Amino acid sequence: MSQRILVTGAAGFLGSHLCDALLAEGNTVVGVDNLCTGNRDNLAHLARETRFSFVEQDICRPFDLGAVDYIFNFASPASPVDYSRLGVETLLVGSAGTINTLDLARKYNAGYLHASTSECYGDPEVHPQVETYWGRVNPIGPRSVYDEAKRFSEAAVMAYHRYHQVNTHLVRIFNTYGPRLQANDGRVISNLMIQALRGEPLTIYGDGSQTRSFCYVSDLIAGIVLLSRSSESLPVNIGNPDEWTILECAREILAITGARSEIVFKPLPQDDPTRRRPDITRARTLLGWEPKVKLREGLERSLAYFEAAIAV
Ligand code: UDP
Repeated sequence: MSQRILVTGAAGFLGSHLCDALLAEGNTVVGVDNLCTGNRDNLAHLARETRFSFVEQDICRPFDLGAVDYIFNFASPASPVDYSRLGVETLLVGSAGTINTLDLARKYNAGYLHASTSECYGDPEVHPQVETYWGRVNPIGPRSVYDEAKRFSEAAVMAYHRYHQVNTHLVRIFNTYGPRLQANDGRVISNLMIQALRGEPLTIYGDGSQTRSFCYVSDLIAGIVLLSRSSESLPVNIGNPDEWTILECAREILAITGARSEIVFKPLPQDDPTRRRPDITRARTLLGWEPKVKLREGLERSLAYFEAAIAV
């Protein structure tokens, strides 16, 4: 049955893809974003979609856009460059913003899914990361504004589930890429793709031996939609367990773009996790989900977007 769904962070990379997926199913979607890192261009293709409306709104202030059946809370700066620049805003959206949206879910008896993160595991001693691992997070380091906001949000979501019986879900999202990944947000895939396409040197932080596991956006959104309809309230990892060193990732990007850029090494940012890979047993078992798109294919699918991004 078609629903009225609120998506916060709708103008962001993941939020906008989520709106598309929900609209494609016939739902009505209200997208909210304060545009501090989101981009209206990500929603431009929905301009004539009558089942979609956009409201520019900071969710840190209480708001109410009428009854909804479901809330996806995706509002937050998310790249290390953005959340370092917007540290206090990141803490606020992951605390006041989460509580405000949970209050709405409680008021309207709506389902609720919060976008959490692999950053909850910090620089992990357990590898691959299972949901039962509590993590190794520096609570006062440069990443703490993001990590602790997301960890607070998880606690808040569990509290509204336990004390107020809200039907909640927590997804721990691992590194994701694809079209609409902000071109200038400093993330590894966007940086290296754009550097390669411009024929500039590829910047590797540290020696490039740190690992990440990259999930293509359509796989991630499919997993999130399945989780939102499950009865699971505990966190579920959604990501691609195919693990790459950053240096290997750079070589893939050189191969796909045909670029001959050299690789230059820059200092490793403080507290940069040395490895990251999801254990997706829970998602496989509970949701019957697993990613389908391999890194090479996903980068190829993203190429046209990054080519267009450097043309503007
Ligand atoms: N990184 C890099 N070169 C860049 C941007 C990032 O080597 O131009 C590294 C970064 O230090 C980290 C990894 O790539 O080890 C992933 O960084 P990203 O900012 O994409 O996300 P994170 O997983 O750290 O949140």
